[in-house]
Amino acid sequence: MESLRILVTGGAGFLGSHLVRALSKEGHLIRVLDDLSTGSLENIKGCDVEFIRGDIREYSTVKDALKDIDVVVHLAALIDVPESIEKPVEYFEVNSYGTFNVARASDNINTLIFSSSCAVYGNPERLPIDENHKLNPLSPYAASKISGEAYITGYANIYGYRPVILRYFNIYGPKQTKAYAGVISEFTKRALRGEPPIIYGDGEQTRDFIHVEDAVDAILKAIKEERARGVYNIGSGNAVKIKDLAYLILKLAGRTEIRPVYIAPRPGDIRNSVADITRANKELGFEPRVKLDRGIEMLMKEK
Ligand code: NAD
Repeated sequence: MESLRILVTGGAGFLGSHLVRALSKEGHLIRVLDDLSTGSLENIKGCDVEFIRGDIREYSTVKDALKDIDVVVHLAALIDVPESIEKPVEYFEVNSYGTFNVARASDNINTLIFSSSCAVYGNPERLPIDENHKLNPLSPYAASKISGEAYITGYANIYGYRPVILRYFNIYGPKQTKAYAGVISEFTKRALRGEPPIIYGDGEQTRDFIHVEDAVDAILKAIKEERARGVYNIGSGNAVKIKDLAYLILKLAGRTEIRPVYIAPRPGDIRNSVADITRANKELGFEPRVKLDRGIEMLMKEK
């Protein structure tokens, strides 16, 4: 594949830094725009990238970062659902207005890939969730992702770039941002310390976990597959109960004597979630490869 000039916003974060490593192996020219609010330079140490420390809320910064770029992968965002209820203005400014800036500045690019979220579906009416499922945001975070999708699509219609919206389910893997650590990261850390996993609610809620290597692969495929456009669910296609996850992690950590602790459910949390990934499979050739137990074992080795 020809070498492309790729801008990764949020490239110093969890998903972004794994992506940057994968892209540099493919020989692309990479520019990262990140304000390092949750990401860190440590995550991309040794990668051959042009790094711009900047805020996507500033249009001129975004416009400059987009100079001579073919493909934008827009990942920069605030990602904590409960925090978005406490700080809705910040979430609006970074996720909605920031994404509006990225879309508005993208008049000279070929492809814009946007990381949306399964949060846009709210509590699903049917499972597995396909891309035609109705949208029902339960938090400012989810609402901000829907508005982001709308701006990416709207400006694609004006400018003609190829829009690809990846609605990620729960991503896990090494380097997940501490303050916003996903449940797998949190349970694993605690189990390895001999502490019980803390479950919000009754633990019967389900999630669809996708390893970060597979999440990155979806982006690489979206870049290569030039006919792909529109919305794609990216998950494993498997529903896992949080309670079962807690016991699996305790087993893999060799701490079967520990029992999980149950506390009140979190506001804005979704009850059940599992992706229908048929569309990503057919149109992107996306096929998750890392099995949950293997992914958790890999994570444990890193901790
Ligand atoms: P992360 O917090 O590790 O990465 C976000 C990055 O964006 C960080 O490096 C941060 O410094 C940067 N950033 C934040 N505000 C910024 C601003 N105003 N200007 C410039 N940079 C800014 O989170 P992540 O888990 O890597 O998430 C990446 C993307 O994937 C996000 O858009 C998120 O909504 C989406 N997503 C993640 C998950 C998941 O499970 N991690 C699930 C669904 C969707």
